[in-house]
Amino acid sequence: MKKKFFLFAGILISFSSIAQNKSTNYNLDFTKKDQNLVHIKTDLDLTVAKNRFFMITHPSQNNPDGEAKFLKNLVVKNQKGKPQIINYLGEGTWEIQSTTTGNYAIEYDIITEHDLENWDHCGGYDEVAYKTQEGLFFTGYSLFVVPDIPVLGDIKNVSVHFTLPKNWKASTPWNKTTKQNDFIVNNDLRFLLNNCIFVGNHYEKEIKLGDFELLFALGNSMKANENDFIELMKPIIESTTQVFGGAPKKKYLIVVNESKVMTDGSAFRTSFSQIIKGKVNKNSRTNWGHIMAHETIHLWNGHTLIPKEQEEWFKEGFTDYLTNILLARTKIIDEATFYKRFENVITKYNITRDLLQNKLSIQESGNNKDQNRYLVYGGGELVALGLDIEIRKATGNQKGLDDLLKSLFTEFGKTNIPYELTNIITIANQVSGKNMKPFFDDYVTGTKRIPVTEYLAEMGLQLDGFLEDVYISATENPTQQQLQIKKGILGL
Ligand SMILES: [Zn+2]
Repeated sequence: MKKKFFLFAGILISFSSIAQNKSTNYNLDFTKKDQNLVHIKTDLDLTVAKNRFFMITHPSQNNPDGEAKFLKNLVVKNQKGKPQIINYLGEGTWEIQSTTTGNYAIEYDIITEHDLENWDHCGGYDEVAYKTQEGLFFTGYSLFVVPDIPVLGDIKNVSVHFTLPKNWKASTPWNKTTKQNDFIVNNDLRFLLNNCIFVGNHYEKEIKLGDFELLFALGNSMKANENDFIELMKPIIESTTQVFGGAPKKKYLIVVNESKVMTDGSAFRTSFSQIIKGKVNKNSRTNWGHIMAHETIHLWNGHTLIPKEQEEWFKEGFTDYLTNILLARTKIIDEATFYKRFENVITKYNITRDLLQNKLSIQESGNNKDQNRYLVYGGGELVALGLDIEIRKATGNQKGLDDLLKSLFTEFGKTNIPYELTNIITIANQVSGKNMKPFFDDYVTGTKRIPVTEYLAEMGLQLDGFLEDVYISATENPTQQQLQIKKGILGL
């Protein structure tokens, strides 16, 4: 788990001395898939890594090696083709026992039996690897070993080649080359690892949305719903691009498969994976569509705008707020559904504060995201609502949270500079033209109760309730100002 940190840290720190211009290539052979294995070959420069290489793992008590448990038949040879002695150091790290260093040819098998393990501790099997009737899903973490260097982003020029069974294809978020089944990893090594792929005889559909290339990899049972997915993704991508004043990347892969377990999603750098339990239709869209939109918005907030330290309240809470308001603005959900979603958020917030007596600040709650889910997602979403209203009140509804996000994205997203809470406060001050620090002191780093009733009233909504039972309705005889703020936020 600790290794994952490298993916986000030190983005701007460039160790030109260790920057590698040589290309790093991975060959993935899927022709032995019936023997439950993928054979991988690579040649890694381990000079800076002092002969160590590793794979990012998600260890658990039952499986302390995480993804590395499925790596077998490791063979390492030096430049002269001489096999090397390798020591496994634990936590997915290996060391070559040699006094000289340089390039090494590394070969191994990935046994495709990840399904047998429980991955709930790291977000479920859809964040690791799984098998369907059509093929195999992997994250980069579950497939690739890489040099153990401090800044993975220093390794550029990464390419991946697939050798596939007949009628199979590889759906990846990477750029195709002119060779068949051959890809260049856009950007750097982090985009090899922090992404997902699907390899098989599944259905693939490519759509162009302006600058965007959206690639769907759908399990056969999902194929019938391709238009449902497109009808959701198109307006969500368009409206999110508008909010942030631009789009971060050009190509996205979306893998959608049926699940017997649950409906869930996970976003990576330029891809996301979604599993859906139950019927896919307009009714169930409130559920799977929310997840799909949430994961898409993460491509901006979470995978382009990246915090320096833990700011889960902003990453998850603001993403959920945007998900709800953009689904309302694009008329994918109606007003009543919007109310219901917010009622749920408030209910969970009240339960956490009143019944569970959780006194953590919204920011602190992110240190233990799973346990404090309601505060991270729900609390964060209520902070987003409060901030939106405060900015609108201060500017006569001329500015809103959209403007804050746009500035933040310009300054920190497009430039790859990790943001901090102080940066959000500075931009909130600029956008609203007033000192917003007390707001953050009260509701983000402090534990003051977010005055949800008052905030909703500002946008012409009435909140009634007793303890955790809450109901939202439209205010009777709203003022012009209330209606304008509501229109600014929901477009309704
Ligand atoms: Zn999320």
